[in-house]
Amino acid sequence: MQSKNTKPLFIVMSAPSGCGKSTLIDMLLQEYHDLQYSISCTTRAPRGEEEDGIDYHFLTVERFRELLAENAFLEYAEVHGNYYGTLKQPIVEVLAEGNSMILDIDVVGAAKVRDYVKRLPPDDPLRAGYADIFINPPDFQTLRERLERRGTDSPDVIERRLANAEGEMARAGEYMYQVTNGDLGMAYRKLCDLIDVLSGRM
Ligand code: 5GP
Repeated sequence: MQSKNTKPLFIVMSAPSGCGKSTLIDMLLQEYHDLQYSISCTTRAPRGEEEDGIDYHFLTVERFRELLAENAFLEYAEVHGNYYGTLKQPIVEVLAEGNSMILDIDVVGAAKVRDYVKRLPPDDPLRAGYADIFINPPDFQTLRERLERRGTDSPDVIERRLANAEGEMARAGEYMYQVTNGDLGMAYRKLCDLIDVLSGRM
């Protein structure tokens, strides 16, 4: 729950598509009112009921390149054939206000953020509050079923996401923490416990 006495966290979360990461992040945002979601920029088209400025900033490739040239991104990566990037400024501002930020980014972006954070002075809020978490699926078949049930991607996109998942899971060991999402409630509790410990709530 909200408390300015807790340490502001800079949380990076990654998972293959279909691992329930968005659901888990939504649940955390409901519970922790001092936690804000970093709205990424992307050049991919909106999916389902996604809204511009809420789920993503949906940009043209030209606009994305402009921001890149302005050095506005903390990191960016090409994922599944589209560009995705994290804006630097909102994160710096949120942490300076004493609040926490959670990022939902791929393994390549997470490695870039990790590298960036490592070079900051130890007392920089982004470094002091840094934690990265990888969400694993219970197994591959479950991942396939979840992606098919979601019904938002075409079969070839699902195959591409599954092919990428293997490579992403091979990098789970780079993360400070791993949580397996077999049972949503249990995975959520584990994340809450982690956040409570890291932020000094318990
Ligand atoms: P989706 O298209 O399913 O929303 O996201 C595809 C992948 O892009 C996910 O693994 C997600 O974590 C990642 N992603 C979303 N935003 C960013 C970002 O700002 N930077 C990077 N590197 N990856 C991102």
